[in-house]
Amino acid sequence: MAFVVTEPCAGCKYTDCVVVCPCDCFYGDDTQLYIDAEHCIDCEACVPECPVEAIHSDQSVPERWRHYIQLNIDRVAALKPLGGPMTEKIAR
Ligand code: SF4
Ligand code: SF4
Repeated sequence: MAFVVTEPCAGCKYTDCVVVCPCDCFYGDDTQLYIDAEHCIDCEACVPECPVEAIHSDQSVPERWRHYIQLNIDRVAALKPLGGPMTEKIAR
């Protein structure tokens, strides 16, 4: 099990979520953030931090966003070689 960032994250760069993650799971591109499923420990700390409820357990991702499970895995794999995880909130 892991947590997954879904569509409502698009355009949000408040990144409140990254600060509370004990495992540095968050990676981002110009569109949104993604969670590293290999390192997520399912602590749920990030869930209440997200103001748009973009973060869901992969067990309970709404049906219309199921494809985000694989998208998170694929984007993290692509982003990891480009730099480390996001750990600090982006001011805006
Ligand atoms: S707080 Fe929510 S919407 Fe904002 S970057 Fe984090 S997951 Fe995305
Ligand atoms: S559930 Fe916990 S470990 Fe997983 S991404 Fe959220 S804060 Fe990080």
